[in-house]
Amino acid sequence: MSRNLRVAVVGAGPAGVYAADILTKSELPEGIGGVTVDLIERDPTPFGLIRYGVAPDHPRIKEIVKALKRVMGNDDIRFFGNVAYGDDLKLDDLRQFYDAVVFATGARRDRDLDIPGIDLDGSYGAADFVAWYDGHPDVDRDWDFQPHAKQVAVLGVGNVGLDISRILAKTADELLVTEIPDNVYEGLRKNATTDVHIFARRGPAQVKFTPMELRELNHSPNIDVVVHPEGFELDEGSHEAIRAAKSQKLVVDVLQNYLAKEPTGAPHRIHIHFCQNPTEILGADGRVVGLRTEITELDGTGNVRGTGEFIDWPVQAVYRAIGYYSDNLAGLPFDLATGTVPNDGGRVIEIDGNPLPGAYVTGWIKRGPVGLIGHTKSDAAQTVELLLADVEKLTEPTHTERGAFDAYLDSRGLEYTTWQGWEQLDAHELALGQAHEHDRERVKVVPREEMVRVSRA
Ligand code: NAP
Repeated sequence: MSRNLRVAVVGAGPAGVYAADILTKSELPEGIGGVTVDLIERDPTPFGLIRYGVAPDHPRIKEIVKALKRVMGNDDIRFFGNVAYGDDLKLDDLRQFYDAVVFATGARRDRDLDIPGIDLDGSYGAADFVAWYDGHPDVDRDWDFQPHAKQVAVLGVGNVGLDISRILAKTADELLVTEIPDNVYEGLRKNATTDVHIFARRGPAQVKFTPMELRELNHSPNIDVVVHPEGFELDEGSHEAIRAAKSQKLVVDVLQNYLAKEPTGAPHRIHIHFCQNPTEILGADGRVVGLRTEITELDGTGNVRGTGEFIDWPVQAVYRAIGYYSDNLAGLPFDLATGTVPNDGGRVIEIDGNPLPGAYVTGWIKRGPVGLIGHTKSDAAQTVELLLADVEKLTEPTHTERGAFDAYLDSRGLEYTTWQGWEQLDAHELALGQAHEHDRERVKVVPREEMVRVSRA
């Protein structure tokens, strides 16, 4: 007799949806007749960082949603939104309904930067700013733009640093064609930034930008990109990095083009400074008034050493874009250094070195917050392969009928949203866009209660 395998995937971002897709398409082990997957998501909406992480002026990346929607069209995959793992449910609750749980909760918080002044007003984390401009329901509706904050520092040279620099340097009206919520448009109108200074602690061959994202930095008529020659050096380690990866060579070529280019006189500038390690955020009356960096030099290996020389930059706000960090998950081990759940190819590993039965991870919670969205596919394939190899060891849940989990959520009074609910909210946001005085494609709904109300109507 064959039985069905029931899997819960916690997190309905790309990593979770890919895991569900691969699970339902995999060849199943002997004794398993079918597999059903329930995606359980803290947000009332699916798609995780595509909705709440990708910058609004990147509609091309948001197109990935089309492929994810096709996956969600599979009747064997269901969506339960507005249900927070850890607060509303824990692993033991899920075990009553599922043979296995795959955690795909990603990384939403900013990695800490332990330098003096980091807690001053005017010192922000990129993840918080991204959550604000992408209209996440759980963040304040207003951003703390100060009228005097014209010079702004961005720490870190990854794609998140590029995203927030573009959003800070563009005008609010340029962004009105995107799906930004009304409160974000109103907020951006108060943004006084004229100059964004991006700081790299190493050299041009060590940046984490990708070529396309770096090239489009000057696509706005309002922005000049100014690469500063100080610290623009390539050592043996840099040449090695350029030889090893074509994309790194392309990035350095783009930076060299910017370096050679005369500014056009655009009203806003994005400056890129190399070999500047942030050591302190300077404050007065509790607010940011500057950034101190130590000049570094390449040591021949692609790393840098400090020179003991410092520069004070007169900036009125500092955004750190030095990487994301995952939330600790109730009932699971957590590695504080990497911000990941310890695992072996996706099988969760307890502190004693043994696998935690029936618990798996995929995406950024598995391998840390690096890599593009597409990379989570191969990651999910590896996790799913191990899960299916473990089938005989999994404990069957006590409640196996399909409606049992819904009934449980109802009995707990949890106001969950469904895939059909998302389709309603999606249609509602598109209609808001059409009705808007500027005829926009979509206007995002921000308050959680309103999202849930429209989804459950
Ligand atoms: P990231 O690519 O890892 O970049 C982090 C940057 O912060 C690095 O330049 C790093 O420098 C720097 N950094 C770390 N600690 C620092 C410190 N203490 N002081 C100064 N600088 C420090 O991370 P991310 O930008 O958050 O991006 C995460 C992933 O999402 C990446 O894979 C990225 O490509 C992807 N993403 C893609 C897009 C897109 O549009 N395609 C948009 C956003 C994000 P070191 O190298 O010296 O450590």
